[in-house]
Amino acid sequence: MSFLSKLKTALKPSGGDLQQSIATSFAAAFKKSNKNWPAFVAALTDDLIMADVTPSLAKNIAEQLPRGVADATAATDELINIITKTIAPFEKKLDDLIAPQPANPPRVILMVGVNGTGKTTTLAKLAGLARDKNMSPLLIAGDSFRAAGATQLESWATKLGIACWGGAQQNSTDPAAIAHGGYNHALAHGHDIVFIDTAGRLHTNNNLMAELEKIVRVLKKINPDLPQDCLITLDATTGQNAAVQVEMFKKFTPINGIVITKMDGVAKGGIVLSILAQHHLPLYALGVGEQPADIDQFNAGDFVKSFFGR
Ligand code: GDP
Ligand code: MG
Repeated sequence: MSFLSKLKTALKPSGGDLQQSIATSFAAAFKKSNKNWPAFVAALTDDLIMADVTPSLAKNIAEQLPRGVADATAATDELINIITKTIAPFEKKLDDLIAPQPANPPRVILMVGVNGTGKTTTLAKLAGLARDKNMSPLLIAGDSFRAAGATQLESWATKLGIACWGGAQQNSTDPAAIAHGGYNHALAHGHDIVFIDTAGRLHTNNNLMAELEKIVRVLKKINPDLPQDCLITLDATTGQNAAVQVEMFKKFTPINGIVITKMDGVAKGGIVLSILAQHHLPLYALGVGEQPADIDQFNAGDFVKSFFGR
């Protein structure tokens, strides 16, 4: 199955429910030619909230609907346009991320996020994309908190035929030192893009957050522009909790982009809209599975259509 069919398959049931409830809301508000526009907007707001859109955003979207739409289908068409326009500014191309840094190579991408949200898997997928573009990626195993952390990244590296720094061949357990060593290794060996994995730190754990800050500090000592990108992985299936995670990590790291993972397992797609509306951060990619090919850049139009089950 292609990336888009996986996304559509996941969102189909809730998209169908959403279409159904919009139809019901329309019929209820307009029955007996008693056109009750405010009632329709209120019901539509509730329909969107049921699809996991945060209440303020749901209200904002519903209120933008032009008065006098002919039927529920026309209302849905309009909603698709409104929402697509709202989130299009956050659509980012993977080509902007997986790109050489001719002036000052290698480019450094640091991945942060809560345990289990998909950091390691996503880094492997991104490194695979870099390799497919004939770049020379290096994976850096900065997750020394768990013993299995580095081994997981190393086994991805072996599987994909990509170089990996850290893990068993390193004596250090200090992630900042591993990141520093990995960067120098990349410089010496002509890697043009490096992906730094980090531990699955609970955002409430101050020691781990301090460790993350240290990685950034050490990189900035090498070159203040590093890391060029600091991405956070958010697990779509955790719902509104994902929003809180961005706030926490932003306090310690210069997050400039998001990857939303596990879209294949999400019951409702509204969480994506809520994350974008709340944080105004570029969304680089969506993950739709555990295999290397299960990632693609975010396309606002495709996503919103899938959100409505189309
Ligand atoms: P980390 O702790 O943040 O590094 O998370 P991992 O990369 O180890 O991922 C945790 C689990 O989620 C693993 O079993 C992954 O295979 C799985 N996973 C990661 N991304 C996706 C995705 O997009 N879809 C699905 N279904 N599983 C995923
Ligand atoms: Mg990991």
